[in-house]
Amino acid sequence: MIGKLAGWDETIVALATPPGIGAIGVIRLSGKKAIEIVNGLFQSKDLTKQTANTLHVGLLKNNNTVLDEVVLSLFKAPASYTGEDVIEISCHGSPYVQQQVIAACIEKGARLAKAGEFTQRAFLNGKLDLTQAEAVADLIASNSEASRKSALHNIRGGFSSNLKELRDQLLSFSALIELELDFSQEDVEFADRTRLYDLVKRSYSTTSSLLNSFQLGNVIKNGVQVAIVGKPNAGKSTLLNTLLNENRAIVSDIAGTTRDTIEEILNIDGILFRLIDTAGIREHTSDIIESIGVEKSREKIQQADVALYLFDVNTNTRTDIESILQEIKKENSQILLVANKIDNTNEESVRLTFGNLPNVLFISAKEHRYIEVLKERLVDMVLQGNVQTEGTIVTNARHYEALQKISTSLADIVSGMDNKLPGDLLALDIRRCLHFLGEITGEITNEDQLDYIFSKFCIGK
Ligand code: GDP
Repeated sequence: MIGKLAGWDETIVALATPPGIGAIGVIRLSGKKAIEIVNGLFQSKDLTKQTANTLHVGLLKNNNTVLDEVVLSLFKAPASYTGEDVIEISCHGSPYVQQQVIAACIEKGARLAKAGEFTQRAFLNGKLDLTQAEAVADLIASNSEASRKSALHNIRGGFSSNLKELRDQLLSFSALIELELDFSQEDVEFADRTRLYDLVKRSYSTTSSLLNSFQLGNVIKNGVQVAIVGKPNAGKSTLLNTLLNENRAIVSDIAGTTRDTIEEILNIDGILFRLIDTAGIREHTSDIIESIGVEKSREKIQQADVALYLFDVNTNTRTDIESILQEIKKENSQILLVANKIDNTNEESVRLTFGNLPNVLFISAKEHRYIEVLKERLVDMVLQGNVQTEGTIVTNARHYEALQKISTSLADIVSGMDNKLPGDLLALDIRRCLHFLGEITGEITNEDQLDYIFSKFCIGK
């Protein structure tokens, strides 16, 4: 654990609710002087004499001016979010009142909190490990049911307990190796190499399943990019409108992505699907006309997680679609063929003609037919083999990188054991794994890294 940060012993204050007008605004203070500072403003009773976890109604007054009538929530160290004395002032939600209250707290000795500083203190006081603290930021930023669920799972220590299990496995492994080292002088052959092997294998598989969850984690956090392509008049914009009418997601921005193309976002079963370059669809500029050869379509298909190729069943033959499919396959392996306009024709014979193309389904974009099937198929394509929504899903690139290093070190141990490497060298590899684990949970970290992580929080959290 690193030492305490600069300004650590100061009492901090910040608005915890979004700035602007609201029914109430909550101002939060944390630190040794939190109670004393608010006590200097509070008129109704002596806060220093109150017990923890209590609410107090009364007036806040500074320099003979009444600031507001407020409700105070009082928490005492160490049983608070930050592990310090914390007071939350619920005042009326006028930005002016809030500013006045914060200014009065500063006048009495508090200072403005930096972004994420409350959670950072919680982390430094051992209330949360780093993965839990990061999950707090993820929860605040969550914009779908799936991302909310995954963040909450991690705040509650879901990921931490996986890491603890991994750590325990490594420590038992290390204990066995140390034992071998202790006896090395006496020429005692280590009794049970199979047990050792089992332990490493188990750690390796724990690590692998966490690593494997990252693909889904990424999807949950950032959404799935879908390119809708097809010849002009295939019905792309009709399909887009049909989907958007029912499922347009209300999202502000999604972390970690730049919005250099215009896109629409759909929320299907809690997963965000980002329809890329929808402006192109509307303007008919990025049609996959003359099949491919149009660079923009190629790029769009490459860039997407899923390429949805829409075609009109009335104007295409099976051979047309097969040859287009060959082209698309070069750019993307996740292809969904969508046969459109089945309302215009004999559905049965159309199904016979196109039915055994790979991953094909039939819809009428205009008549809203089988749109549910299309949505289900999209979700299935994302989740295939990945349906572990109850378990931990790694959503954080920092964790993913550290897990990759752990996995490599574990693979080194396995091959070391295969090559009968001496125990002291194996012990080094284990220490390396434990080091990377510590990096994830924050036991081993540095100030710059912490500042970076917490700077992504909002002020007041
Ligand atoms: P885009 O060029 O691929 O964007 O195609 P549009 O969405 O503009 O559709 C072209 C024409 O096909 C329009 O006249 C639509 O009304 C029509 N269309 C789209 N989907 C369907 C469908 O499912 N059934 C029928 N009968 N017509 C459709």
